[in-house]
Amino acid sequence: MAKVILKNIYKVYPGNVAAVKDVNLNIEDKEFVVLVGPSGCGKSTTLRMIAGLEEITSGELYIGDRLCNDVAPKDRDIAMVFQNYALYPHMTVYENMAFGLKLRKTPKNEIDRKVREAAKILDIEHLLDRKPKALSGGQRQRVALGRAIVREPKVFLMDEPLSNLDAKLRVQMRTEILKLHRRLNTTFIYVTHDQTEAMTMGTRIVVMKDGVVQQVDTPKNIYENP
Ligand code: ADP
Ligand code: ADP
Repeated sequence: MAKVILKNIYKVYPGNVAAVKDVNLNIEDKEFVVLVGPSGCGKSTTLRMIAGLEEITSGELYIGDRLCNDVAPKDRDIAMVFQNYALYPHMTVYENMAFGLKLRKTPKNEIDRKVREAAKILDIEHLLDRKPKALSGGQRQRVALGRAIVREPKVFLMDEPLSNLDAKLRVQMRTEILKLHRRLNTTFIYVTHDQTEAMTMGTRIVVMKDGVVQQVDTPKNIYENP
């Protein structure tokens, strides 16, 4: 559970590509905020800076009360879910979910409890012994979510997590992710280029274009004042 604050954030990639320009955001604790906009507008770059996967060129990033510009990704109390799932193919579902905790030297019985709890929430208890290649797209996405949940992060970061799923499953997983948000009662920051997804999922929506934030509002207000 944490606020996320971006103050005058800029990202300039090598070659002088200004991907994010003076972004200011005040994300409240427990909000479900969606960053939306066309491909190349700087959504991913913004999310990756919050995750610590991309260096911030200038500006200040706070997670909770802590200035995080120079904090390592693993120390930020965040977990990120990617569109390509990024599961380890040689590990079982259980091992995939346990891996991050093992790296952090979490005691085995605690790992076991957390993995089983997350698997129950996501309804994948029966899949724990399978390898990723023996899973459907939707099941893989659940495992990717599970891997984030076991870490008990204060902030969930999701970059187009549903874009590899077919239309029907995508709609179903939107509902699942919203349920997860309610259940975990923590902050979610979700990136999509899909306007319908943004409007149906966000409690607030951040509209980006050409590296700039154009509008921040509730879906209702954006619908009425596009
Ligand atoms: P979005 O997520 O909205 O599609 P990105 O944040 O991925 O947008 O990209 C924003 C801009 O930054 C684009 O012009 C993209 O080409 C550029 N960009 C992204 N990553 C890099 C990189 N590693 N090096 C140089 N330019 C990049
Ligand atoms: P080790 O490091 O000794 O190989 P593991 O990390 O594989 O041990 O397993 C630790 C505990 O996690 C085991 O006691 C077991 O209960 C549980 N576990 C491991 N893999 C699975 C699995 N595929 N399904 C269910 N439980 C598992």
